[in-house]
Amino acid sequence: MAAASLSGFASQTPEPRLTDSLGRVIHDLRVSITDRCNYKCVYCRTGEMGAQYPELGIDEYLRLIKLFVGLGITKVRLTGGEPLLRRGLVELVSELAGLRTLGGEPLDLALTTNGHLLDGLAGPLKAAGLHRVTVSMDAVDAAIFERITRIPGSFATVLRGVRTARTAGLMPLKINCVLLRGFNDDQIEDFARFAREECVVVRFIEFMPLEEGRLWSPEIVVTLKEIVERIGRVLPLVELPARDASETARRYTFEDGIGEIGIIAPVSQAFCGACSRVRLTSDGKIRTCLFSQVEHDLYGRLRAGACDQELREYILRTVEGKEARHHIGEPGFLKPSRSMVHIGG
Ligand code: SAM
Repeated sequence: MAAASLSGFASQTPEPRLTDSLGRVIHDLRVSITDRCNYKCVYCRTGEMGAQYPELGIDEYLRLIKLFVGLGITKVRLTGGEPLLRRGLVELVSELAGLRTLGGEPLDLALTTNGHLLDGLAGPLKAAGLHRVTVSMDAVDAAIFERITRIPGSFATVLRGVRTARTAGLMPLKINCVLLRGFNDDQIEDFARFAREECVVVRFIEFMPLEEGRLWSPEIVVTLKEIVERIGRVLPLVELPARDASETARRYTFEDGIGEIGIIAPVSQAFCGACSRVRLTSDGKIRTCLFSQVEHDLYGRLRAGACDQELREYILRTVEGKEARHHIGEPGFLKPSRSMVHIGG
């Protein structure tokens, strides 16, 4: 009798879950599957193309992602570099769609892309089980867009991709726009109209010191406060309630309830206290913060023959040491050794 109740107790022992030393529960994994990109956005890249870091095999990303899911990850976002460049992407999405969270639910599966190849890939990705895409667009004026991406014809190509993704049902479709004073801040009001006309959620993101060159300064950042004031002058905004504590965007609709915009303000209103994210780089390193000064070589351990249990313990230990917060704008702030495109935005 006693033995039976003891074994019953053992089978109910909860699985270990990713939690850091500050008690933050980590349930959101971003995986870069290449650091190559077909755009050279002026605020992100120096203009060099090509990979700086090695890529893993698709089966290796899958093995590592499964370990994270077994530790409580419920949301996986594929990113890069440009993830649509990666051969095997559709097959990876299809495998991920078959995974279940610890609670037995399908993963929340999303992808961030520049949209250049989306027209051809939105349908296959949706069919493989992808739920949502976020498309990066930094202007709605074609000439400004192409000046930023440094790729002729890019605006029309991306707009076509956005529309195809919407038709394919990759919804809600989010458009991420990084604003830089003097580059594209004249696009703010037009983006608000674009959100309404194209039925997309436009999210403005404050520029962070993660570029390949040296462009960042506090003055170049267009803050949440300024964006809300400027849109409010032409289209009055109504703030929407947060859906959960780890939501990064402050969300707004318009007076008639049509359309949504969001503002992600990591610089002027940091949300590190509610961070639920961890990242895996294209070469298999864990980064516990965008601004980490150290990386943790998960793939190196896999290659050295570590078994799944050893890798799980390594992930748990690493995530426990997640940084409390970033130090953007403070004296002594150090830029991380990798820029956004090589970390996975
Ligand atoms: N190629 C994909 C794309 O364009 O969405 C994924 C990678 S890209 C590096 C991810 C996002 O990071 C893009 O929306 C880009 O605008 C953003 N980004 C790049 N550098 C940034 C910076 N310094 N601060 C804030 N966002 C940045």
